Amino acid sequence: MPSLHLDGISKSFARRTVLHDLSLTVHDGEIFTLLGPSGCGKSTTLWSIAGLHAPDSGSIAFGDRVVFDHGRTNVEPEHRNCGVVFQSYAIWPHLSVADNVGYPLKLRRTPKARREHRVREVLDLVELGDHARSYPHQLSGGQQQRVAMARALAHPPDLLLLDEPFSNLDAKLRDRSRQWLKVLQAQVGVTTVFVTHDQDEALSFSDRIAVMNHGRVHQVGTPQEIYEHPADLFTAGFVGTAN
Ligand code: ADP
Ligand code: MG
Repeated sequence: MPSLHLDGISKSFARRTVLHDLSLTVHDGEIFTLLGPSGCGKSTTLWSIAGLHAPDSGSIAFGDRVVFDHGRTNVEPEHRNCGVVFQSYAIWPHLSVADNVGYPLKLRRTPKARREHRVREVLDLVELGDHARSYPHQLSGGQQQRVAMARALAHPPDLLLLDEPFSNLDAKLRDRSRQWLKVLQAQVGVTTVFVTHDQDEALSFSDRIAVMNHGRVHQVGTPQEIYEHPADLFTAGFVGTAN
């Protein structure tokens, strides 16, 4: 399982720079959260890691493996082996839970017996073993979100990238999902980059947090460091200590 290194990543859309020379290191096995207000560049960072955007400069490495080096290397998203879950879970409505989860394995031409075994395994992991034959519309929002998580884990990813995965859930379900993610992540141990604009969410379960604003990282630290010793006024205001 690799660590993740971003070095000097910049990205502009229509001449507006949304990421300014961003550098970050995510350690092997940790939950690393990108925290910042809407529009600050969190999703753009995550998409760059997944290979869905090519940055205008800089490099990205998974451990020793360079997956992006501007002008030299740009590994295709399907060869980066990231498990990605977005805010809208985007599971297929016309496929059963088992077929949704098995889809990435089918794409990789995993033999049927192995595929079925792995689908059972990850559905048990997200506690949906009894719902393999259900269809998405028969599930609650929280269960659908877990199907998306199971699908992201089906082909064991090198990195798990989670973009505001709980923001569509009601408060109670969101709380339960956070606790559940923490347990799941500890079991699987996969290096995870989690994106949120919600400071309580970030503080509640991250190993470390990068506080972002306007495409720049203001501070990187543990929840305690960020909360107790904010490096600047923006961070103090955003994590609530200045309120
Ligand atoms: P966040 O996830 O923190 O809310 P984003 O990374 O989605 O922020 O967006 C950062 C900025 O880049 C925003 O101002 C957004 O409007 C802009 N942006 C994102 N994607 C595109 C795109 N494909 N084309 C043009 N502008 C974009
Ligand atoms: Mg976003």
